[in-house]
Amino acid sequence: MSLTLSADQLWQSVLGEMELVVSRANFTTWLKSTFIVEWRGGEIVVGVPNGFTQNWLEKKYHKPILQALEHITERQVQRVTYRIVSHRGVAPVMVTITTESSAPVLAPVVEASRAREPAPRFGLQPHYIFDTFVVGKGNELAHAACRAVADIPGKKYNPLFIYGGVGLGKTHLMQAIGHALLQLHPDWRVLYCSAEKFTSDFVKAIREGRMDEFKSVYRTPDVLLIDDVQFIAGKEGTQEEFFHTFNEFHQQQRQLVMTSDRPPKSIPALEERLTSRFEWGMIADIAMPDLETRLAILQAKMRERRFQLEREVLQFLAESIQHNVRELEGALNKIMAHCELTNVRPNLEVVRNILSTITFSGLRGLVTVQQLLQHIAEFYEISLDDLTGGCRKKELVGPRQIAMYLMREELDISYPSIGHELGGRDHTTAMHAYQKISRGLTENTRLKQEVDMIRQKLYQGQR
Ligand code: ADP
Ligand code: MG
Repeated sequence: MSLTLSADQLWQSVLGEMELVVSRANFTTWLKSTFIVEWRGGEIVVGVPNGFTQNWLEKKYHKPILQALEHITERQVQRVTYRIVSHRGVAPVMVTITTESSAPVLAPVVEASRAREPAPRFGLQPHYIFDTFVVGKGNELAHAACRAVADIPGKKYNPLFIYGGVGLGKTHLMQAIGHALLQLHPDWRVLYCSAEKFTSDFVKAIREGRMDEFKSVYRTPDVLLIDDVQFIAGKEGTQEEFFHTFNEFHQQQRQLVMTSDRPPKSIPALEERLTSRFEWGMIADIAMPDLETRLAILQAKMRERRFQLEREVLQFLAESIQHNVRELEGALNKIMAHCELTNVRPNLEVVRNILSTITFSGLRGLVTVQQLLQHIAEFYEISLDDLTGGCRKKELVGPRQIAMYLMREELDISYPSIGHELGGRDHTTAMHAYQKISRGLTENTRLKQEVDMIRQKLYQGQR
């Protein structure tokens, strides 16, 4: 028996089988954008967009992929490897699989082609595309949601609301949707803008009596991407205007994507009708990347710049900077610049020195107890007196325990001193609070998000 398959057809069949055994989100994240780059004899090389996908496929999906391949090609393919390729190649030639001959006769199938010319981009950073985004624990869901929106805009997940701390890739992902849609529909108008710009343009339009112009800019695009939407909270006129803008997009099934530093419900002073609308579609959070993902991000950035660091150095970097991908990138840039200037091989010692000038081990010495308490009070919108006072209302006890936890964790303050700072409480109260929050962080994702956000804000204030 013999059967003729193109590499593409073969891979589509494999993906078809994989779709049955993995969840939709995982399929979208890890498998959907893979393809065959080479097919020689019994060996196949699968192209993947980044090191993280490569790692993930090798570790988690290798076996079912191999099984599917063996099954579809009747054991003609017995080896699979995964290679990072940033652009899909040209259409593969046809190959013949034959079970009658034992000799492997299959020719290489695909040659890499040059990327297509980029489409015009409106306000989008060329670099913020899906190809350069490393998917991992923390951003998996947001990434899958953005991919889904890029595939089917305006329908299923409208609006898409992405939230998370600073420097975790919200803007990157949001713009990636824009790029992907322009690639598919070169004639579309994609408008990216920060909520801050929306606000100032609106105020200016009112002042100058040019609302018609404003509306034609903001209400007519095919896709609207509004970054840091929390900015409009508390601004009456802007919220009103955004409400109408939102309705037009939603009613006409034009895609709206928003980002924010927190979920709709937690944005203080946001009108209820907006809060509820922001929840109509899909809400996805971005959390801090885990160590593995941070490593993958570093590796991707180094590959892009053809730069290399030893494994232990990378590990050290990824362990030292945990809260913010932008900072991670910044540190890497600084290291590369340093190495270029001095021509010194970047070993652990060198990197440790460079890092000591830009990062912090915790917040000790950088944030005072008063600043920390102030941040927490602001975050929960309670007064400093309430935070440190004696009232045992639930909405005060929670923040107070978080304060004790962070004083210990970030400022390394002793339990008796923590008790003292928080209205003269006993050191056992501080210990109890610390343990309770530590435990809570592993079980309660909402709590984790809140503590992460407070940390983010503290770190941000330090830059
Ligand atoms: P946010 O909007 O959440 O503050 P950004 O989208 O501006 O964050 O991301 C900060 C920087 O980190 C950008 O340069 C972005 O490209 C990079 N970055 C963040 N997450 C990732 C990721 N998962 N893979 C690659 N780069 C990332
Ligand atoms: Mg941003």
